[in-house]
Amino acid sequence: VGELRKDYILDRWVIISTNRSKRPQQFKSAQKPVAHADPETVSHCFFCPGNEETTPPEIGRIEKDGKWSLRWIPNKFAALEPTGQQEIKTDNVFYTFSANFGYHEIIIETPDHHRQLQDLSPVELEDVIKVYQKRIEELMLKPSIRFVDIFKNSGEKGGTSIIHTHTQLMALNHIPKLVRDELAAFKTYKSCPFCDIIAREKGSYRRCFENDGFVAFAPYASRFNYEVWVMPKKHAKNLSEITDLKGLSEVLHMVLDKVKGLTDSYNFFLHYSPVDDFHFHIEVCPRIATWAGFEISSEEVINSVSPEDAAAYYRGEQ
Ligand SMILES: [Zn+2]
Ligand SMILES: [Zn+2]
Ligand SMILES: [Zn+2]
Repeated sequence: VGELRKDYILDRWVIISTNRSKRPQQFKSAQKPVAHADPETVSHCFFCPGNEETTPPEIGRIEKDGKWSLRWIPNKFAALEPTGQQEIKTDNVFYTFSANFGYHEIIIETPDHHRQLQDLSPVELEDVIKVYQKRIEELMLKPSIRFVDIFKNSGEKGGTSIIHTHTQLMALNHIPKLVRDELAAFKTYKSCPFCDIIAREKGSYRRCFENDGFVAFAPYASRFNYEVWVMPKKHAKNLSEITDLKGLSEVLHMVLDKVKGLTDSYNFFLHYSPVDDFHFHIEVCPRIATWAGFEISSEEVINSVSPEDAAAYYRGEQ
């Protein structure tokens, strides 16, 4: 049980979800040793083969040779629930809210307890992205769902609580503020700003990698140390409009492989438009620095690594 609440006056939103505080202590203790998991933990791991009955009932799976290679399930400790007041309402001017309505799911990316997403091959990664695509399409058809936020938490500073590699998905009854801001800014340009940005950044010191269909670059005003954006060169407003998932997984794999040389703590997430035109992208955020008072007070960030130096690292020049 919980609520989605808006700040008194700001366009700033919070999900109150006390369900997650019931998270058992065993998850907390599993938080630290992400890189070198104890083999013994496999028998206790909810996401490992053999323990399928310990998770909520499976939504879907991909099978290879009679065994699952990917599974997706409801989050046992969901921050969103598909019950209660679906639409956002305002009471007495200052209280804008709905239930914490939505779907909170887990995509288990591999049955292998000892590999992380950054260890998967581009071919394996392509299957993961196919599931992202499929699940966005399916959940966008559900009543009151306006946006499906797909994000990866890796490593301790990336906020992961379960070692076994997985992606989270939150299907929301609203478009999150950051995405709405990007969509609104996008509309103020005559043609797609991201198509023009790609054309410029491909020739800049911020370019990291590219293949035929995709480019990775360190954004001009990176918020995170070694932040990278992955974009299709051909204009596409969402993941469903992208046919070359092989090309996308190749470039994402190259980025994650380089992130691995820096830290196992990172987040990435998909930005797309559920309705209007936009330019799909993935933002990859290594979590090296800790945001503190200045960042929290101002929503401005001090980044100690220039995007130009970051890109040189990705290109293998440092
Ligand atoms: Zn496991
Ligand atoms: Zn574009
Ligand atoms: Zn974005």
